[in-house]
Amino acid sequence: MIAAVREADAAGTPLLVIGGGSNLVIGDKGFDGTALRIATTGFHLDGTRLELAAGEVWTDAVARTVEAGLAGIECLAGIPGSAGATPIQNVGAYGQDVSATVTEVVAYDRRAEETVTLTNAACAFSYRHSLFKDQPDRYVVLRVRFELEDADGMSAPIKYPETARALGVEAGDRVPLATARETVLKLRASKGMVLDPADHDTWSAGSFFTNPILTAGSTRPSSRAWRSGSARTSPRPPSRRARREP
Ligand SMILES: Cc1cc2nc3c(=O)[nH]c(=O)nc-3n(C[C@H](O)[C@H](O)[C@H](O)COP(=O)(O)OP(=O)(O)OC[C@H]3O[C@@H](n4cnc5c(N)ncnc54)[C@H](O)[C@@H]3O)c2cc1C
Repeated sequence: MIAAVREADAAGTPLLVIGGGSNLVIGDKGFDGTALRIATTGFHLDGTRLELAAGEVWTDAVARTVEAGLAGIECLAGIPGSAGATPIQNVGAYGQDVSATVTEVVAYDRRAEETVTLTNAACAFSYRHSLFKDQPDRYVVLRVRFELEDADGMSAPIKYPETARALGVEAGDRVPLATARETVLKLRASKGMVLDPADHDTWSAGSFFTNPILTAGSTRPSSRAWRSGSARTSPRPPSRRARREP
């Protein structure tokens, strides 16, 4: 992987790093450069410490941590793509995001031409953002390390109100890990967010939605605009409707 990146950089060839390709739209003219598809594998669990190779399928890795009885990423089940892409936009859903559990990201630094280990703080995570998005052509993520929690088979405290409602618990409660994962998968499926090859409404070219961050002053006009907007009067199929990100 590093050799391919070095070769492209030495030749001055544009480089496109592709994980699962779930959040990537390629123009009809194609990409004039080197496309590097990350297909590395590696799932290593040492107590509560998890290391994933960048090419691991994220949702499968989540399932394995749940099977292992470890909490921290169970609500991120069903998010398409690779483990290596999760730090890029600080992947998150249903009250969890990876910034809460990532301890280190091992990456190839194309500027320094060396492999570096970035601490959680160095990743500068914020809502769907990170150092990697700030400097998009600099790092290729090789491995991601997480610190999970052994809570005797229970989930991390449920934070997201919709998940708590679906589980019939209060926000802050813990539930069995498998129940948390399955509930999130059901909620995602009910919104067409889990790929079903037979259901066109679940086919998706990506998800660019982020929840709007409103100031106290801007809340009222936005709500009015939404109520009087086209969403209520001109329903469209779910696959084309703006989905609210959990
Ligand atoms: C139906 C659907 C639902 C989704 N739901 C959510 C959600 O709930 N929460 C959420 O946060 N996201 C969600 N997403 C977005 C998507 O799952 C994430 O962005 C995911 O991390 C993309 O992974 P990928 O491996 O497919 O990345 P790709 O689509 O292959 O790449 C995405 C970007 O990351 C870069 N990249 C990928 N791998 C690496 C690497 N190893 N090193 C450096 N750069 C890399 C690529 O160059 C590209 O810029 C959803 C997408 C879809 C289609």
